[in-house]
Amino acid sequence: MSSNNDHYCNILRENGGFYPVEKWLQFAKMHNFQKTNSIKLKNCPDCNNERLFKFGQYIYYSNIFCIKFCPNCGLYFSDTLLDKEIIAKHFENTYNDELYFSKQRKDIFDHIASLASKYTPENGKVLDIGGGKGHLLHKIKSARPDISAVLNDLSENSCNYSFEIYAMKSICCDMPSLQKINSHFNTILLIDVIYYEPKLNEMFKTINKLLHSKQQTIIIRIPNKLRIIKFYQFLLNTFGLSKNKTFQSEIKHFNPEHIYIFTQSYILKKLKKEGFNKVTFIPSPLLNNNKVIESLSGNIFFWVANVICKLTIGRLILTPSMVVIAKKSEG
Ligand SMILES: [Zn+2]
Repeated sequence: MSSNNDHYCNILRENGGFYPVEKWLQFAKMHNFQKTNSIKLKNCPDCNNERLFKFGQYIYYSNIFCIKFCPNCGLYFSDTLLDKEIIAKHFENTYNDELYFSKQRKDIFDHIASLASKYTPENGKVLDIGGGKGHLLHKIKSARPDISAVLNDLSENSCNYSFEIYAMKSICCDMPSLQKINSHFNTILLIDVIYYEPKLNEMFKTINKLLHSKQQTIIIRIPNKLRIIKFYQFLLNTFGLSKNKTFQSEIKHFNPEHIYIFTQSYILKKLKKEGFNKVTFIPSPLLNNNKVIESLSGNIFFWVANVICKLTIGRLILTPSMVVIAKKSEG
């Protein structure tokens, strides 16, 4: 075997999960695999169950990731966690595009801002976990100057930006470290963040700990693509060539950055366990498109999705993302 082959075989062995490594050698060479540290999960990160079903696989950062389904708690999760430093570097270099936040996510942020304004009491406190550069909190503060807003993000650059541009108070740390802060909030926002948190159970406990004893609401935004992901996996498993199944390198409509695919029933169960007795699922607007026709059809689709959501009492949501509003009381 040539030293080049040895090099890639070693990378495949070290990255783990490629069996047998010789079968993956050509693939590794073609995609110029690099040694990338990661850990493999053998048990469900929620309930520790070890009897899991493989749902699909993808290649990301020269690692093979399997999406596993836990029949015990209903969680779909990725069995590979990349090294913390790689993740931090990835996010520091991604989602930096100002236009993405100010234009493409405008409708999404406007929608969340109106919900936050509606549910936060007068002079209440809002915490935006993983709030990036503060675009969303700035919208909320503009509409409700009485609200006290705090931003949290792992990225120091984002926290600095939010302070320099919006004079936003921020806490720069990972989500579980928020447990240490001695402050409570009426509204906690988790917009497109909970599928990044490896310590899932700790995350729900942290959120609970940070809530004010009265008038508390959490607003979560998550993808709603399991139906279409399942459909494409079904097509692959039923009609796909054996080679395409063995070397499956992506799961259609699944973002490889995400650690979990959440279902409504899973989220409902977790929130009820933490004492949230009123949980509502609603459609979330689509990303904005610069083209007028597509933007207009997106608005019509969002309106239709809202009607269908109301008719089915939140059971059927058509938009690719959904918003979860959870409360402990009517307050
Ligand atoms: Zn489980």
